[in-house]
Amino acid sequence: MNVLVVEDDVRITSFLVKGLKAEGYSTSVAYDGDVANEMVELAGADFDLVLLDIGLPGTDGRRVLEALRRKRPTVPVIILTARDDLESKIRGLDAGAADYVTKPFAFEELLARMRAALRNVDQASAQLLVVEDLRLDLLTKVAWRAGRRIELSVREWSLLEFFMRHPQQILSRAQILNHVWDLNFEPGSNVVDVYVGYLRRKLNRRDLQPMLQAVRGAGYRLLAPGPPA
Ligand code: CA
Repeated sequence: MNVLVVEDDVRITSFLVKGLKAEGYSTSVAYDGDVANEMVELAGADFDLVLLDIGLPGTDGRRVLEALRRKRPTVPVIILTARDDLESKIRGLDAGAADYVTKPFAFEELLARMRAALRNVDQASAQLLVVEDLRLDLLTKVAWRAGRRIELSVREWSLLEFFMRHPQQILSRAQILNHVWDLNFEPGSNVVDVYVGYLRRKLNRRDLQPMLQAVRGAGYRLLAPGPPA
């Protein structure tokens, strides 16, 4: 179990690293936001949980959180905040942090919150579809792209679930129609194109790589674009 500690206060960092090691966790440390961002982007760097200070030199902790939600949507993040920074807490939770701990904190409390966050991941992974920065929670019926919630109609939801269960595959209009609509629409019906169009507009945000692609004469495909070149 590897924990990424992002914190510029050396005393807090060494206290955390020592304590976590004693509890059997391995740790990686980033003392500023830029290094944290690099580690988040690095494909080989693996961690199961992140402890994130918001007030950081270099890239701001909130930006690091955004990058985490985009690149590592299933890794829980616990925010470390100053005592009275209520705004940071609320914004952090809204941005997808699992929990927060107020400094100074009791180490036992932090451990308990870490265990709870990791338990939630175990439960959630069974009900979560993930393709790149796209997440679909099958239980709560909520979708996110790059940490931002996407509002979907029931039909759009079924359509997205179908695509996410078959990433990179070209799905024909007939396949989509059969799977998502159950009804025998006339072959000439453009209902698939209409709904894929709705979905594309919701997924393909201007600042992100397009994910839903039309394949001429064949159908549609959900791409997993990977990190930008
Ligand atoms: Ca700090």
